[in-house]
Amino acid sequence: MTEKTDPQQDVPNELARKLSQWHQANPKATLTEIEEAVEAELAMVRRQLVEELAQEKIGEQKVPDCPQCGQQMVKNGQRKRKLKSKEGQTIQLNRQQWRCLNCGATFFPPG
Ligand SMILES: [Zn+2]
Repeated sequence: MTEKTDPQQDVPNELARKLSQWHQANPKATLTEIEEAVEAELAMVRRQLVEELAQEKIGEQKVPDCPQCGQQMVKNGQRKRKLKSKEGQTIQLNRQQWRCLNCGATFFPPG
């Protein structure tokens, strides 16, 4: 038996389970309240997915050349960066900062 370990595969099930629990706890919820609960859960899942994918993209970055002198840069630790998503949510990413050993310039790759 092969099991998928990709956590994204479980998102719809997890969402349905949470909402079903919520509905059991709030049996008299109006349609509007149900809609709001669904929206809130979806917004959370969407933010998690965006963060995961954006973080993956950062992990794939190549070593950049120094914009000042053209030497290859070295990793200089990660910095937290907050971004606003299209829906106005706050997305938090770890960004790799690079440093040039030749001239001391620091650099955040764009994107
Ligand atoms: Zn440099």
